[in-house]
This record gives sequence, C-alpha cells and structure tokens, in this order.
Amino acid sequence: MVKLSGRCLCRAVSWTYSGPITRRLVCHCESCQRATSSPFTAFVGLDSKHVTWTGEVNHYESSAGTYRGFCPTCGSRLYFRSEKWPNEIHLHTATLDVPEDYTPDAQVVMSERQCWLSKLDDVPKYEGFHVTPTEAEQC
Ligand SMILES: [Zn+2]
Ligand SMILES: [Zn+2]
Repeated sequence: MVKLSGRCLCRAVSWTYSGPITRRLVCHCESCQRATSSPFTAFVGLDSKHVTWTGEVNHYESSAGTYRGFCPTCGSRLYFRSEKWPNEIHLHTATLDVPEDYTPDAQVVMSERQCWLSKLDDVPKYEGFHVTPTEAEQC
C-alpha cells in the first residue's frame, strides 16, 4: 500500500493514489518512444479504481483497446491503459510530485531499446547546454 500523487506540466491535471503497486517498469517499446517523444518511458502500475483525477484528461487510442492519456492544455503524457489489463492503469512516473517515490524493477521490450542508452553513463556530463557537439559515433 502506497500513497502517490502527480501532475502535468501546466498543473491543470493532477492525480492522487492510495493502494497497491502492480508494476514498476521502464518501457523501451517504439510506441512509448513516439507517444512520449522520449527514448523510453517509466511507468508505475496502479489499481485504476483507486486513482483520483482532478482536471480534464484526453486520450489517444494508439491501438485497438489501448489508450494514452494526456493533458489537453500542455500535452503532458499521463497514463497508459489497455483493455488487456482492465483493472490497471500505468501512470508515467515523470508526472510524480516526488520523483524519489519510484524506482523501476524491470525493463521491457528490450529489442526496441535505443542502442545508445547502454553507453549513457560514459557520455561526458555538464550542467549547462553550451556544449560543442563531437563527431557522432554509431552504436
Ligand atoms: Zn497540463
Ligand atoms: Zn511501451
């Protein structure tokens, strides 16, 4: 049993939860990459009947019976829901109020993982954006 809460970028939508965690996944599938405009996404799986929403949420049916919720004002992605798992909702953990409330315990769809992610720890690190690009290396 955990208590979690989160919100979109513009704060028009927020959510709260009290209940069990059903999954703690990082998903590398191409659909999640395109839907979130990011190289991967992290989900926390929750019991959908215990999630309370404030604000208006739209969704996009990305394949039959699969819904991806988002804030209609700022476009933040909020959840993944599928008729395959009717009692579950997967919240994008980037919406959490307290990011430290989450750590993943599995990575899924590894065949679609971006190849450069395995090298990320070795990429030079800076605080600012003023970094001159180097020659790109292939994976
Ligand atoms: Zn918003
Ligand atoms: Zn995915």
